[in-house]
Amino acid sequence: MRFQKPKGTADLLPENTKQWQYVEDTFRAVFADYQFEEIRTPIFESKDLFSRGVGESSDIVSKEMYIFKDKGDRELALRPEGTASVARAFVENKLFGPEHTKPYKVYYQGPMFRYERPQSGRMRQFHQMGVEVFGSKNPATDVETIALAMDLFQELGLESLKLVINSLGDVESRLAYREALIAYLEPHFEELSEDSKTRLHKNPLRVLDSKDRRDKEIVANAPSILDYLNETSKKHFEVVKEMLDALEIPYVIDSNMVRGLDYYNDTIFEVMTESEAFGSLTTICAGGRYDGLVEEVGGPATPGFGFGIGMERLLMILEAENIELLEEEELDVYVIGIGEETNLETLKVVQAIRAAGMSADRDYLDRKLKAQFKAANKKNARVVLTLGQNELEQGVINFKVMKTGKESAVELEEIYDGDFEKIFNLKVADMTAFNEFFKKED
Ligand code: ATP
Ligand code: MG
Repeated sequence: MRFQKPKGTADLLPENTKQWQYVEDTFRAVFADYQFEEIRTPIFESKDLFSRGVGESSDIVSKEMYIFKDKGDRELALRPEGTASVARAFVENKLFGPEHTKPYKVYYQGPMFRYERPQSGRMRQFHQMGVEVFGSKNPATDVETIALAMDLFQELGLESLKLVINSLGDVESRLAYREALIAYLEPHFEELSEDSKTRLHKNPLRVLDSKDRRDKEIVANAPSILDYLNETSKKHFEVVKEMLDALEIPYVIDSNMVRGLDYYNDTIFEVMTESEAFGSLTTICAGGRYDGLVEEVGGPATPGFGFGIGMERLLMILEAENIELLEEEELDVYVIGIGEETNLETLKVVQAIRAAGMSADRDYLDRKLKAQFKAANKKNARVVLTLGQNELEQGVINFKVMKTGKESAVELEEIYDGDFEKIFNLKVADMTAFNEFFKKED
């Protein structure tokens, strides 16, 4: 019986995870600069959390959720996104309490699940890294968080990204717009897709987000939400734009952009790429303000702002743009043992080196000296220790600094009792100093 991974999932092999880790480490360093700390929530939650939080009429909830019942008959869902869970954790752990600094800033990372039609950059299990900020209505929070997203990409060397913003206004503004949008769409009712027909009265803004080609044509001439913002929302959006200008962050406004989740209000944004990795303009990061969500999931009224980055799409772009992420990796020490008799001693030596906090590897297949040296070179070993029959009898090991070719004998006892890192540094650094000296003399 042979098995295959489920459709829409991927195995990340070591050559992939190296890149993932590089991106994750880079992001974590930037998050620290912005004073975000990590939160980890369960990968499944009660289904209702997402129906309430993300919205019953969104594609994510109505079509894409992985729902199951556990043995206790609880209705659960694999999380399709991160924000609802983090908001739930914020409420459940009373993170709004006075002992916590405000705004409360966290980042998360991990797999999300959506039952979609798999295609390039669209998976059923995919990964996001994202942030949430709770407790600030200040437009500076919107702008700083957008700036954080842009910084993350810049830090990776991605410069050619497009920032798109829009405002969905507050509840009052959206109600006014809703009326206008319904009035515009009703005469086109028969031409709309089936999805959009059902959504027209339930949640007309969803129609703007439709991926159906004919819906898109109709929606192109729809009234703009920006014309329906009340004073408060208009002011908020004005300040956001001013602040982006002040930070010299370029952006375009797309008044038809509404996002696929229902919890947003006022500022929303997407970071898009025209990279050849995808045939068309593709979103790699999306987010915005969600001032009603915390209350919606049972907490005190608390404004929020956040975004999520699609990691698979990001890595596809990095690859397509040929962005070199990794420095060449080095191994501190490769231990060569010649002959079966050296097997135990080789084991002890690699373990002593690792105990000293350095990286070590060895041969396990009793290969010839030449093959073992080849393996050492392939791993970019800085030092090769060689243990043959003679060395074993004398209680020493041959220490070779690969860069200089300089060899010497080291007592095995010294490796077991002493500080291996000190021996290593002395020998490797000595040679470097020695070489530097002669380079200067030339
Ligand atoms: P799309 O319009 O492409 O379906 P979305 O609006 O559903 O995106 P969000 O829920 O805002 O996406 O998720 C944020 C980011 O997560 C997206 O911009 C994208 O990079 C990534 N993402 C979303 N769904 C998937 C998926 N099925 N596979 C891979 N990445 C995804
Ligand atoms: Mg989607």
